[in-house]
Order: sequence, then C-alpha cells, then structure tokens
Amino acid sequence: MQAIYGGTFDPIHYGHLNSVTALAEQVSLHQIIIMPNNVPPHRPQPEATSEQRRKMVELAIANNPLFTLDCRELKRATPSWTVDTLEEVRAEKGNQQPLAFIIGQDSLLSLPHWHRWESLLSLCHLLVCQRPGYPLTMETPERQQWLETHRTSSVASLHQQPAGCIFIAPTPLYDISATLIRQRLAAGQPCDDLVPAPVLNFIHQQHLYR
Ligand code: ATP
Repeated sequence: MQAIYGGTFDPIHYGHLNSVTALAEQVSLHQIIIMPNNVPPHRPQPEATSEQRRKMVELAIANNPLFTLDCRELKRATPSWTVDTLEEVRAEKGNQQPLAFIIGQDSLLSLPHWHRWESLLSLCHLLVCQRPGYPLTMETPERQQWLETHRTSSVASLHQQPAGCIFIAPTPLYDISATLIRQRLAAGQPCDDLVPAPVLNFIHQQHLYR
C-alpha cells in the first residue's frame, strides 16, 4: 500500500521521519510519498522557500527506498486543498487500490477544519501517528463519534479496502516540531538529534532559520 505524507516540512525532521518509518513497519506500507504543501498566503509563511523545503526533503530521503517525493502541490502557483489533491491522485490510480494519507495526532484533531473533510475518507484511509502533548479525543462528541465509526485496529482492513478507515498507529512518541527546530537554530542551539545531518548542513549553508 502507498501512503501520502503531506506537510510544510519547514524543515523536515526526525519527528516526521522516525514516526512514519515505524508506521510503515506496523502497517506494511511499501511506499511513502512525501508531498510538501504550498502554504496559502493568509497563513504564516514558511521561513524556507518552496525550493529549499523541496531540497531538504530530498536530502532527508536520499538512498532510502521507502520514500519518494511528489512536488505537485509545490509546483502550483496556488495552494491546493488536500481533498482536491487526493481526488487527482485517485483519478491517476483508479478506485480499487488502497491509498492512505498520513497525519499526526494534532492534525487528526484539527481535521474537521479542513476543506471538505468528510470527503477525505471516500478517497483514502487516514493513518495517524502519535504525537506527545495532544489530547487523544476529538473536540466534540459528534467528531468523536465520527472517529469511532471509522476507526479500525485491523491492519488487514487497510489492505482489503481502498479507503474509509482511520488507523491510530502505536508509533513511538517524538517530542520534535519544526517550530522547536527553528527556535533552537535562531538561538544558536544544536539540532543534531532532531534533523538528519545532510539537512542540517544545508540549513547552515543557506543561512536558514537564523
Ligand atoms: P510546525 O512546528 O512548523 O507547525 P510540524 O513539525 O508540525 O511543523 P508539519 O510539516 O506541519 O511539521 O507536519 C506535517 C505532518 O507531520 C502533520 O500531519 C504533523 O501532525 C506530523 N508531525 C510533525 N511532527 C510530528 C511528530 N513529532 N510526531 C508525529 N507526527 C508529526
């Protein structure tokens, strides 16, 4: 099964990479497609340019056959909704193959604010990585009900059905965020245990996050 991993990746870090590597093992994913997003103008802009974010992902996944990079959202002049991108991917792959979208626990909680969020499960499964510091239940009883309705603990279901399940994976907790990394770099603190070395070298070379 293939899974798409969307995010800003400003920068990509071990919280991303280690969580989804553990997830891949737990649910037998054979490919994770990293898809950096184009940030809408009304949101806080990434500090790194699209090109720099792309390059950092490339450096982080070099020689790792589990990962590929899809720049379709970055290349567009305008930001795209996840649901629209998934519809496009579905049109390419057809409706039969299982497809998953990976999010962290924080994104699961905010999912009901995403554009056409209730359509997401008709297009893909949602695979959720644990993240420390976020509640395990949704904000309202209705949303919790939605979660319970779709939630599965069966890995087999993820492979047998093309879409429609939410799997909360028992991934290890990584207390790492891109915000923390940007703050540490701005304060001149080391980030060797948070970001892969080639990415960190690139960050220094480009004078990023100072
Ligand atoms: P920022 O601090 O700038 O908001 P971030 O570290 O949350 O960034 P994003 O690129 O916004 O990183 O995240 C992409 C996806 O990765 C999201 O679904 C997010 O929930 C997930 N994610 C990020 N960090 C972790 C982590 N430490 N553990 C599990 N999931 C994570």
